[in-house]
Amino acid sequence: MSAESRKLTAREKQIYLRLLARTKPYAGRLALAVVFGILFGGSVFGLLFSAKGGMSQVFGGAATRLQDSANAWINQWYAGGMNHDLLLTIVVLSVLLFCIALRGVTFFFSKYLIEWVAQRVVMVLRNDVFSKILHLPMLYFTGSRTGELMSRTLNDTQLIERGITEVICDLVQQPFVLLGAAAYLFFIDLRLAAISLAIFPVCILPVAIFGKRVRRHSKAGQERIADLASIQQEAIGGAAIVKAFGTEDREQARFEGHNLDFFRRQIKITASKAAVAPLMEFFSVVAACAVLLYSRHAALELSDIILFLGAMVLMYDPVKKLSRVHLVIQQSSAAADRIFAILDVVDNVGDQPGAQPLEGAVREIRYEDVSFIYAPGKPRVLDGIQLVARSGELIALVGGSGSGKTTLVNLLPRFFDPVSGRVTIDGRDLRDFTLASLRRHIGLVTQETILFNDTVFRNIAYGEPGATREQVEAAAKKAHAHEFILAMPNGYDTVIAERGLLLSGGQRQRLAIARALLRNPPILILDEATSALDTESERAVQAALNEAMQGRTVFAIAHRLSTIRRADQILVLDQGRIAERGRHDELLARGGIYERLYRMQFENQAAAP
Ligand code: ADP
Repeated sequence: MSAESRKLTAREKQIYLRLLARTKPYAGRLALAVVFGILFGGSVFGLLFSAKGGMSQVFGGAATRLQDSANAWINQWYAGGMNHDLLLTIVVLSVLLFCIALRGVTFFFSKYLIEWVAQRVVMVLRNDVFSKILHLPMLYFTGSRTGELMSRTLNDTQLIERGITEVICDLVQQPFVLLGAAAYLFFIDLRLAAISLAIFPVCILPVAIFGKRVRRHSKAGQERIADLASIQQEAIGGAAIVKAFGTEDREQARFEGHNLDFFRRQIKITASKAAVAPLMEFFSVVAACAVLLYSRHAALELSDIILFLGAMVLMYDPVKKLSRVHLVIQQSSAAADRIFAILDVVDNVGDQPGAQPLEGAVREIRYEDVSFIYAPGKPRVLDGIQLVARSGELIALVGGSGSGKTTLVNLLPRFFDPVSGRVTIDGRDLRDFTLASLRRHIGLVTQETILFNDTVFRNIAYGEPGATREQVEAAAKKAHAHEFILAMPNGYDTVIAERGLLLSGGQRQRLAIARALLRNPPILILDEATSALDTESERAVQAALNEAMQGRTVFAIAHRLSTIRRADQILVLDQGRIAERGRHDELLARGGIYERLYRMQFENQAAAP
């Protein structure tokens, strides 16, 4: 919760209004909720009014309007022999019961309708955010941001839900309760009501003042506790350093300082909290004494005074709730701001106007002087890349980590677009094709195999939900996965999450290859796993890959010597540039970067059988 009690900024208002605009489709329900809110306020008045009638009827006193009306009603409609006084009491008390029932029913429906709208708005918001995330540019999904995205979709929508529900509930119900109770005060005695309304703020002043102090110290206290935790963590994690440098005393003093500060704040919070109740009680009784003094002077009845004080008590809750509405708005508009920031991301990797579907065979892929940077001001990750890949060729990309291999292949499915130059298929810029058709032509096998919590069958058929059993099995056979799948407890219907641990790295890779092959894509992007597999797995994966590459244009980020040896072109990347290119033997003979890499990385493999 935001600690300082401050006015809403223009931006917060703007964000909150944007949030409220999302309730528009449910305007009918909200209007109905307001009607129930008004009736709810009316029931407060009715309750006080009929309670007064009931007390007068039972304890005696000047006849009230309720009694007069009930009397007239009985005289008109009832001719039986029942004790008139008893009957009158029953009628008056029935009105009281009706009012309390009305209060319950109207509370229920206004609360229900508002919750319904709030939950609905949040549900739609969650859907929108998820849909946006699915279509966000690939740039968004880099390391540190993933956790943040998750927290935004879940926590922030939760905060927003609270913001909408509480604020609308309070705004729809509480003003009318306040009005109902205040109206009753004026109904009893104009002057008394005016005096009380003037005293009332004084009674709740302690809450306002001390509440603010509590919030301020709580926030600072939380920061201190976080400091304590981090000092402790440093001391434990860096125990060796602390001991080696002999800084125990300094660490201890630092810890004690923060700890003392935390203690002082806790005590201030306790003092503030403990002061509120007695002060409120005292001021309330002062106010009550003033009321009693006045009623002696004005000769008010006891029941009037009781209900008068009752009305004041009823007004306390609405005032408290309405006075903190802005805090809730502040908090939820911060969450809404973060959510809207996602919704407002402009997806610049999308279909261009007039984009055509990519159809038929792919004869040639070209990178024409392609450069790429991840963010303005960052160094070039790709710099003047030129390459031509003809149909059926195997292009192997090698180079040190961070040399730009992944970025280069990611331009092909348009995870990113080049900042200068262009990538073409058969002479046409990738941006001239629709994204969906372009991506249908590309199979992607990543290093880390992503398997979904579903059956083997559906994991392979992930991109082709309509695939038949035969098609899936054919793909699995090509990927050399058929046999081990059949050996699983339920074959193709085995749920992977349950058996996830039983799948070896090599098996997971073969499933991923089968998934890519099912679409029979003319272009295959292969990010070979660097992690070592056992020899048998390695052979199976190798065989699967060899088969997968048949008849396709393949871009392989190659770590396997066999892939590299067979490659039609090897591109050696160095700091975003193609430093060398050629076939294996040519590059070895040249004695450049490739030869060095080869010695470092591949000689062990070459020595293996
Ligand atoms: P490789 O696949 O050869 O290891 P990458 O293409 O993954 O190289 O990375 C090339 C360079 O781009 C590296 O310096 C890396 O830090 C940087 N890089 C990669 N992805 C991102 C990203 N999403 N945002 C910013 N920089 C990135």
